[in-house]
Formats: sequence, structure tokens, C-alpha cells
Amino acid sequence: MNHEKMFRLDGKTALIAGASRGIGLAIAQAAAAQGARTILAARSADALADHAAALRAKGYLAETCALDVSSDESIDACAAAHPDCDILVNVAGTNIRKRFEDYTAQEYEHIMQTNLHGIVRLTRGVGRAMIDRGQGGKIVHIGSLMSLLGLPYLSIYAMTKSALAGLTRVLAAEWGAFDIQVNCIAPGFILTDLNRDMWQPAEMEQWLRGAQPNPRMGKPDDIAGLAVFLSSPAADYITGQVIASDGGYTTTAKWPFGPAE
Ligand code: NAP
Repeated sequence: MNHEKMFRLDGKTALIAGASRGIGLAIAQAAAAQGARTILAARSADALADHAAALRAKGYLAETCALDVSSDESIDACAAAHPDCDILVNVAGTNIRKRFEDYTAQEYEHIMQTNLHGIVRLTRGVGRAMIDRGQGGKIVHIGSLMSLLGLPYLSIYAMTKSALAGLTRVLAAEWGAFDIQVNCIAPGFILTDLNRDMWQPAEMEQWLRGAQPNPRMGKPDDIAGLAVFLSSPAADYITGQVIASDGGYTTTAKWPFGPAE
């Protein structure tokens, strides 16, 4: 291994699905900065164009691709337009917080299609091309704490994110023979448009301080570094893993005791 290049993505093409804002944008920016030819994909064409132009202005390689993961045609067109992907990062996702018994059929379909069915179809299309090319590859799913835990009122979201964790393990087993590594990141509480309202009240910050070792909200860049690492040669021997970047939320239970005197 060349230690100078072990975290670099030079010469690689990275498709970031869901790159118009938030976590996906941070991953795209980090991948481009590490040398990848980076394809920013999502529905918001203007935002993608602006972000790609800003990356090119810094001397990086960045392009855009129209992608709606709720449309089979759009997914197939995006996958077909990029048969040379070395890295696929599946970020696109949505959420609706509700009691399990209150979800409408439309809400159920919307979450399942965006977070799971579309990602499955895109992964199949891009993965087939990786196998056919015979040059290996990296696939990184963005799961959630809900890939690992059960928090109330997130049942459908949890079903999709748990399914991504299962898909990660099975694809790692199936595609290891093709030198394709498949991993899943479980982000903790990352401040983005998806949840800004929820974290607005001041007492939420207080709650967080009592709930996890790193007593702050996460930032999209807290996920970008791990996504780039899992896409890099440094992670060639890591596959099938669900890795939390969550300030320690999933590993710590707070208790009322201090040190014994
Ligand atoms: P965000 O700021 O709302 O960004 C969501 C991204 O997904 C956008 O780029 C959006 O692009 C894309 N997207 C949504 N629907 C799409 C569709 N039908 N087709 C293509 N792209 C679509 O949310 P975020 O917080 O960065 O979340 C990104 C991922 O991280 C999600 O999968 C989420 O579940 C996961 N996550 C987030 C947190 C957190 O605390 N924020 C924690 C755990 C996991 P367009 O709208 O332009 O299409």
C-alpha cells in the first residue's frame, strides 16, 4: 500500500446519490477534494449545478446527474450514464415521524421507495456495471441509528434503514469475490434540513448533553470523513460493516453515579 495515497481517491469516479445538500453534499465535497471525479446526483438540478461549479472552481473534478430515486426510469438512466463508477454512496433519504398505526399508505410507499426500493435498484444497476468492469469498487450506504436501535415513531424509516444494514452484509458476501466492498454508515444526530425544526428548542441541546459522550450535534462533515475513508484504499479490508458516527450515542448508557469517594 502506498501510504501517501491510502486515503486518496485519485483516478476514481464516485457517484453520490443525494448530493444536493446536507450529508450527501458534504460527502461529495470531501470525495472531490480527495481527487475523485465526483458525480453529484439528486432532483434539485440548480443546487447540484451550483455545488459542482464551486468544486470545479477549486480545481476538482465534479459533474451532475439528474436522479429521482422514486422513479425507475430516472434511476436506470443515471446508472446507465455512469458505467464507470468505482464508488457509489447512497445518501438519498427522507423521513416522517409518526405513530406506526397512523402512517397512510402513501406515506409508507414514499418512505419505502425513497429510502429502500430506489436505493436497491440503483445499487443493482451500478453494482452490475462494477462487476462487468472487473476493477472492484466500493459501495457505502447511509443508514441511521435506526439501522441499529429502536426509537419510537420512526417505524417505517427504521424498516428501510435496517434493510440497508442487511443488504450491506449480504452484498459484502456476494460481491467480495469481485473485490467490491460494501459498508453502511449509521450517522447519529446530524443537523441538516431533514431535522432542523426538531432540534430547534434549546432543551434539545440540553438533552443531548445528557445522552451522549460527545455532547454536541453532529455536522455533515462528521459523516463525510468516514464515507471517504470507506471509499479509499485504506478500507480495502473492511466490508459488511455497519459503522456508527454518532458521538458515542449507541455505545453509552448514562447513569446517575459519579466516582466513589
Ligand atoms: P437532507 O439535507 O434532507 O438531504 C437529503 C438528500 O437526499 C438531498 O440531497 C435530497 O436531494 C436527496 N433526496 C431526497 N429524496 C430524493 C429522491 N427522491 N431522489 C433523489 N434524491 C433524493 O437530509 P440529510 O440529513 O443530509 O440526510 C441524508 C441521509 O442521511 C438520509 O438517508 C438520512 O436518512 C440519513 N441520515 C440523516 C441523519 C441526520 O441526523 N441528519 C441521521 C441518520 C441518517 P433532492 O431533494 O435535491 O432530490
